[in-house]
Amino acid sequence: MLKRLNIKKVDEGIRRFQETVFPARRKFFEKLAKGQSPQILWITCADSRLDPLLITQMEPGELFVHRNTGNIVHPYAIPTRGGAATIEFAVSMLGVQHIVVCGHSDCGAIKGCLNPATVEALPAVREWLRHTDSLRERVVARLGHADGPEVLERAIQQNVLDQVEHLKTHPCVAEALATNKLQLHAWYYKIETGDVLTCSSLDSELISARQA
Ligand SMILES: [Zn+2]
Repeated sequence: MLKRLNIKKVDEGIRRFQETVFPARRKFFEKLAKGQSPQILWITCADSRLDPLLITQMEPGELFVHRNTGNIVHPYAIPTRGGAATIEFAVSMLGVQHIVVCGHSDCGAIKGCLNPATVEALPAVREWLRHTDSLRERVVARLGHADGPEVLERAIQQNVLDQVEHLKTHPCVAEALATNKLQLHAWYYKIETGDVLTCSSLDSELISARQA
């Protein structure tokens, strides 16, 4: 019953878009139909609560978006190369000038990484999150445990930084960085406050905690 209700809502939304939104911006969409030239590749989690266009207030055509569970970018050497085709297309074909990896608060993927028991019954998710195994080990090594909301927040931010490092192993990214054609950004979106923060590593937070 709930699924039917949701689909009905989608149908109504599409109709409203076609009858109201589209006619009001017909010229915009006709121009958009001729091609795209986004300057930003936005890599983010599949989580339904994070809407890149909403939080950036950008328009269709301005963000080239890649989404998956946990905003993971595999190192280029890993055969599955999650997102490699999207990254290559964005960097080499579209010539994006920025790549943003944006994680978010309360990320279920990183919860699964920190507490593998929560994804024990999900073999595909478990396999996907194997790429974050070292994150859990580093979190425990630095903080002594992997529990609690603060640890989760720090792990989510470190995960984003890890993916930015993986981006650098992609030849098209390395080449664009070497010629100053590309900038990489590690951001963290806090659902409950609307903040978009630059990610801090596990190490740097330890240093600032010590100084305080
Ligand atoms: Zn998530």
